Amino acid sequence: MTMESVAIAAYLVAALLFIMSLAGLSKHESAKSGIWFGIAGMGIAVLATIGLAFSEAISTVGAILMGIAIVVGAVIGLWRARVVQMTGMPELIALLHSFVGLAAVLVGWAGFYMVEALGDAQTEVNSDLLGIHHGEVIVGVFIGAVTFTGSIVAFLKLSARIDSKPMMLPGKNFLNIGALVLFAALTVWFVITPNIGILVAGTVLALLLGWHLVASIGGGDMPVVVSMLNSYSGWAAAASGFLLGNNLLIVTGALVGSSGAYLSYIMCAAMNRSFISVIAGGFGIEAPASGDVDYGEHHEISAEEVADLLKDASSVVITPGYGMAVAQAQYPVAELTRQLRERGVNVRFGIHPVAGRLPGHMNVLLAEAKVPYDIVLEMDELNDDFPSTDVVLVIGANDTVNPAAEDDPTSPIAGMPVLRVWGAKDVIVFKRSMAVGYAGVQNPLFFKDNSSMLFGDAKDRVEDILKAM
Ligand code: NDP
Repeated sequence: MTMESVAIAAYLVAALLFIMSLAGLSKHESAKSGIWFGIAGMGIAVLATIGLAFSEAISTVGAILMGIAIVVGAVIGLWRARVVQMTGMPELIALLHSFVGLAAVLVGWAGFYMVEALGDAQTEVNSDLLGIHHGEVIVGVFIGAVTFTGSIVAFLKLSARIDSKPMMLPGKNFLNIGALVLFAALTVWFVITPNIGILVAGTVLALLLGWHLVASIGGGDMPVVVSMLNSYSGWAAAASGFLLGNNLLIVTGALVGSSGAYLSYIMCAAMNRSFISVIAGGFGIEAPASGDVDYGEHHEISAEEVADLLKDASSVVITPGYGMAVAQAQYPVAELTRQLRERGVNVRFGIHPVAGRLPGHMNVLLAEAKVPYDIVLEMDELNDDFPSTDVVLVIGANDTVNPAAEDDPTSPIAGMPVLRVWGAKDVIVFKRSMAVGYAGVQNPLFFKDNSSMLFGDAKDRVEDILKAM
């Protein structure tokens, strides 16, 4: 049995393990086993690839370079995964997507140098299939380059290194469509007469398009963008698979590409966003109106006054957001919940689908702090109950409780479903200042007559309430 046939069998097993991994990850209870299937599949794939390289008489320099790359990659990967905070997870994922994009660009360029530039066509590619090879090179480079710069912008936005507001270039939709038309023309030209000038032009065009697509999308839509880039990175890997003649890379890329696209679609439906608009770089979304609206005065409240309100309440809803994660306030929040429940107060949590910085962020934090599952409800299960609620504690949430999403059609988050906390008798908002949330829009909730602001770090303020009680 040759190493090649062993590798083909190993790739098949790895592909099956990846499918089982996705199936496992689709449910809470089986998620852990899903991760293990994924690890096993990737381990088998890496070993088979190394075995294949050695069976093809890899040069000593090649073997050393491969060894160094594996060790350096593994060390950096393990280190980053160990130190990353939950709040930093989406930006790490965005950065990793950019590596997949860059790898696809490099594989495309290497394919060009092996075949089109150096004329190794007879040994590498059957001459009948040369046209297909040219197409694979430029399409693979294009998808990879869009993923690369798009993911870098997502990383910069998520880590607050650049503003999360959408970039609004004049005629942005025409720029995107024009870039696609130009790329189609370049592809045809490259397939007919492959040369480095066209490949450079295609690469630069794709890099600019990737940057523009993601920069044009506002902060509130970033969850969809992250899953969309996940999908793009899958298609970029599949494109590399075609170029390298690697079936496992094609299967894995297609799995990631299609599951990422489906996840983006589900998220768009949950957030009342148009899928086409988001993947087309905010197509059809116009510049938001200027934020100079006078919302009136906000009211402040002290921790002692909040404690008094809570003592008299019979029903309390807590809606956590990103600020609870930043402050690590989930432990005192869990203690407050326990004490209120002991007093006979009906305490429930309302979780918005995109609260925090990754789906399920709040559920994980609350589970960590041992808040009982059965009082942690989804937005839709609770949204009609606010009028019969005495006190709502908005702990470090902002966009997810913004009434402008329902009342102001010009708002960048217009149409996004929100927790209707303002219907309750009293709303207490925990935050450090009057600053805007991730989507960069002001929140009229803070100025409503039944809302009061409790300023300061959410953990400190919840601890103050516990002391006062
Ligand atoms: P927001 O980002 O809208 O608001 C968080 C609030 O927390 C801010 O107003 C901030 O105000 C406050 N805050 C920050 N630190 C603290 C602290 N230590 N103590 C008290 N308050 C604090 O969060 P939401 O969870 O409401 O909304 C999530 C947003 O993130 C949405 O726009 C969503 O689209 C986006 N997003 C979601 C992703 C997901 O998958 N879930 C991924 C990427 C983006 P201040 O600074 O004044 O304290």
